[in-house]
Amino acid sequence: MWRDKVVWITGASSGIGEAVARLLAERGARLILSARRADKLEDLRHALGEPERHKVVPLDLAATETIPVAVEAALRHAGRIDVMVHNAGISQRALVVDTDLAVDRRLFETNFFGTVALTKALLPSMLEAGGGRFVVVTSLVGKIGTPVRSAYAASKHALHGFFDSLRSELWSAGIRVTLVCPGFIKTDLPLHALTGDGTPQGFMDRAQSRGYPVERCAAKIVRAVERDREEVLIGGKERYAVYLKRLFPSLFSRLIRHARVT
Ligand code: NDP
Repeated sequence: MWRDKVVWITGASSGIGEAVARLLAERGARLILSARRADKLEDLRHALGEPERHKVVPLDLAATETIPVAVEAALRHAGRIDVMVHNAGISQRALVVDTDLAVDRRLFETNFFGTVALTKALLPSMLEAGGGRFVVVTSLVGKIGTPVRSAYAASKHALHGFFDSLRSELWSAGIRVTLVCPGFIKTDLPLHALTGDGTPQGFMDRAQSRGYPVERCAAKIVRAVERDREEVLIGGKERYAVYLKRLFPSLFSRLIRHARVT
């Protein structure tokens, strides 16, 4: 299903986005690669077979005013976008009482408003083409809240609300949405996670360093799209927290207070 499909991936300069890009390039997709670090994206593009089939469009999701220009560049190059993989994001490692409001806003600017702005700029062309798919990488904390992730969890919950609504509005127009909720995946995410004053944490977490392999995560994302899944949980045992909260909310509330999440 991927051959010659145009797939735009944000956060392709590392981690999950890079792994998805490598997998889809192998399957014959034409890729638009976005993130802030253009050099990393160019390195990836050249590492993919037939680099001329792919394009780098550098993008800072937090600078929403620049997003229409990026969309124009992507459409000028590819003519259409079949699948938009909203994967870029930043995490958080700080208690509510220690987190500046400016940091809460930064998390929302990138994770939520940047993603929403890109979606809105892209939608008219998708609707004109008769449809398209959004793959939105949220998190297990898009379904539950845990310590030291308050605004991060809120931004990911917000993505679920937004894209569930979008799916319901535009189903008959051919727009499909797959929400992806990873648990602990072994990537550099904790290094860049914001602390209370906005500085990056700068070191790895134990939970992530023992996390689910990123290539397997990418394979599950791709399979979820192929199976037309609306939502998928990916990771190890931590996935059961979502079911525990749904079935036994009081028990979940007691357990999460003591859960080791770093
Ligand atoms: P990485 O830190 O490896 O990747 C994050 C990506 O987002 C990078 O490519 C980064 O590129 C990009 N990015 C960050 N800020 C911006 C911005 N302002 N504009 C554009 N791109 C940006 O972590 P992961 O691969 O793990 O994270 C990918 C997604 O998966 C995120 O949305 C994260 O929340 C989610 N996730 C990850 C989990 C995990 O355990 N790893 C668990 C649950 C969810 P650059 O710095 O070049 O801009």
